Amino acid sequence: MIETLRSIELWQNLKRNGILGRKSLGFVPTMGALHEGHLSLVRKSKAENELTLVSIFVNPTQFDQVQDLDKYPRTIEQDQVLLEKAGVDYLLLPDYKSMYPDEYLFKVEEKNLSRDLCGEFRPGHFQGMLTVVLKLLQIADADNAYFGEKDYQQYLLVKKMAQAFFFKTQIVPCPTIRDHDGLALSSRNTLLDKAQRKLATQFPLHLQSKSTPAEITSALVRLGFVVDYITDKETDSGVRRFGAVRLGVVRLIDNVKI
Ligand code: AMP
Repeated sequence: MIETLRSIELWQNLKRNGILGRKSLGFVPTMGALHEGHLSLVRKSKAENELTLVSIFVNPTQFDQVQDLDKYPRTIEQDQVLLEKAGVDYLLLPDYKSMYPDEYLFKVEEKNLSRDLCGEFRPGHFQGMLTVVLKLLQIADADNAYFGEKDYQQYLLVKKMAQAFFFKTQIVPCPTIRDHDGLALSSRNTLLDKAQRKLATQFPLHLQSKSTPAEITSALVRLGFVVDYITDKETDSGVRRFGAVRLGVVRLIDNVKI
């Protein structure tokens, strides 16, 4: 049975009172509206640890657009069923007040990678993301924490933060899970209308093609996408092609190894 903890204190008490014993702990932080992408992280955590903790917290400080935060899908009851079925041990559901007792006076600032790619188009996003991940990793106090390569820039920033601040938790990358037509699964995909969802397939298709980033950009613009960027970057795992596009108010990101 999954145990749902509605406050940080309840989780900290479990740890403090030794109820988890000396069992290894895997942690999967999420914003909910769970899909197979999230569940693949859960499965990896379960395979590599004796206990798995998942958190669901829609973090306001990483949203640069109020309407994006308002529209963000919230499916908590369905999420609980999925996590129960997946065999998760603990679900943490903190609220804003307990996550930000400082009213967001303390923030994590990174001055290099966070300004690139999505950082250029979403001011404050990575600062909010890194801050909440720092808090969550500190609270979870896990051996391993799992992050999706779908958000590769996020994964890299979290990994570098963990190194910079000597976290004991290992940051583990997990491959991108795609829909049957190649679109990377994302909670925001449910916000696409039927025509947009059909068109969205063209994004990963072009990203994986042999064309140059400039050619891909032109092709996607011709199809009706607003393109924030398509670009190749050297990373810790070789050269990857990164892209961010918009269809109406929905922003999609993806990356592939090339
Ligand atoms: P989110 O709920 O969007 O904040 O995502 C929580 C975690 O799930 C992050 O580490 C994401 O990178 C990961 N994730 C989201 N979508 C996918 C996907 N399609 N494949 C793999 N991981 C994903």
